[in-house]
Amino acid sequence: MERETEGGCMIKVGVLALQGDFAEHIATLRSIGVETVEVRLPEQLVDLEGLIIPGGESTTIGKLATSYHLIEPLRRFSQDRPVWGTCAGAIFLSNDARRGQPLLNVMDITVERNAFGRQVDSFETELSIPVLENPDRPYRAIFIRAPIIESVGEGVEIIARLPIDSEDEDRIVAARQGHLLATSFHPELTGDDRFHRYFLGLAKG
Ligand code: GLN
Repeated sequence: MERETEGGCMIKVGVLALQGDFAEHIATLRSIGVETVEVRLPEQLVDLEGLIIPGGESTTIGKLATSYHLIEPLRRFSQDRPVWGTCAGAIFLSNDARRGQPLLNVMDITVERNAFGRQVDSFETELSIPVLENPDRPYRAIFIRAPIIESVGEGVEIIARLPIDSEDEDRIVAARQGHLLATSFHPELTGDDRFHRYFLGLAKG
């Protein structure tokens, strides 16, 4: 089954393919009938309805985007088309990662990289995410040397929080600013395509 927009054409979504786990995003998008493009050149952005920036290493993604002359084209794309950053991709979208590295500076969030420290480098947990289909079904989230979203600006909606049992509080792990989406975790690794479907909802307007 092909996923169609209201006008009847198939939706086309790019995945930035400079570094990181872009192949897993492409596989998930294809499994739900979306046409995908591996994006490495500015001209490949032209006819896309949305873009995913994958997890990986945000400094490397930023440096490669700079040398491939992608920073300005990605900023322009983000002005009016849906962009979703997962993990390193969320860092790259942010306004502030608290250190000098190339960022798109398009989303009004401040992130803290590697926020869970060495002992809990990677973990999986179930989150409650009310914006997804079947919101009563928990969403299994995989965190790998993940950032947290330390703070969000006005107009940024918090869509998922991770409870921290020992401290009786929580951390922001997913946020949306209009057509921009950032998640600390990796929905492309879980086999649960609800987050990708949610993003396609933004792409279809
Ligand atoms: N720790 C990485 C960074 O800071 C992100 C890890 C990931 O994308 N899984 O860029």
